[in-house]
Amino acid sequence: MIDVYTNYNGLKKFIEKIKIPSHCIFCEGIDLTIKEPKHHPSYEITTACNLNCIFCYSNVALKNKTAPKPGYYGSLNPTAITISQYGEPLLIGCEKLAYIIERLKERFGDVRIDLQTNGIFLEMDRLDGLVDIVMVSLDGFGENYVKLTGVNAFDKVVGVLNDVANADCVGVVRSIHMPGINDDDLVKIAKMCDEIGIDEFFLQPISIYKENKEKLLKAGLKVNRAESLIEFFKTAMEIQNNADVNVKVPGCILVNFRQLMQKYEFEDLMFLNRNSIATASPTIRREWRFVIEL
Ligand code: SF4
Repeated sequence: MIDVYTNYNGLKKFIEKIKIPSHCIFCEGIDLTIKEPKHHPSYEITTACNLNCIFCYSNVALKNKTAPKPGYYGSLNPTAITISQYGEPLLIGCEKLAYIIERLKERFGDVRIDLQTNGIFLEMDRLDGLVDIVMVSLDGFGENYVKLTGVNAFDKVVGVLNDVANADCVGVVRSIHMPGINDDDLVKIAKMCDEIGIDEFFLQPISIYKENKEKLLKAGLKVNRAESLIEFFKTAMEIQNNADVNVKVPGCILVNFRQLMQKYEFEDLMFLNRNSIATASPTIRREWRFVIEL
């Protein structure tokens, strides 16, 4: 179990000081006055993917027929658009993606474009100047990457991260916190981000869907640790203590936790859990608006 008691002051300060991730700025999730906040608008391209990650929610949505059709979802007055929340957007290739972004910018003006990708097909020179934030998923280091994704592409992704670091955008590596599975990998990934010059390391808590649960348990996931919010923040702090990279956690979790810190003694939050077991199939709650024909 975690040793928070001896160092809870350090943890408290870490949670107070840590900054909101670039990707979360302008998201309703960080506005505590909104009762049912929605994620930024997104442009969905495909639900297909070239990887087969053991925690993937796109696969679950596909199986349950709740996966989104291609197109734009959300407010027609966006400040930021995520491409995309499901599947691997670069399966269509960088040229077609560049075309879609250009059309989105034509329609919405100077909107921030956040690309979420596994990085394998990313050619930064073809997207340079079009994307503002590039978030590359990396959940395991070396051999563990292969075990978690089913594909031997770790070195390829590392090469791409170098290109992201040198491009004119905010470079982010996003890792899912899977206690019992990737504990040792997270610090290694964060140290590598520091060496490469990646701007942010974004630690994301895992959502466990019943369709993935058996695979995750077999791989060693410790569900009680995955549910503990303090364990999550402690992991983020340990990564920050070991790597000179900006460690970030989801803005919505951060602002809500800080609000609780205003109301309760920090010691009273030690045993606060999040429900990591997802009960509903993943779906987009924003309205579908249009699709850009290719
Ligand atoms: S992590 Fe939360 S705050 Fe950040 S973009 Fe997603 S929903 Fe919004």
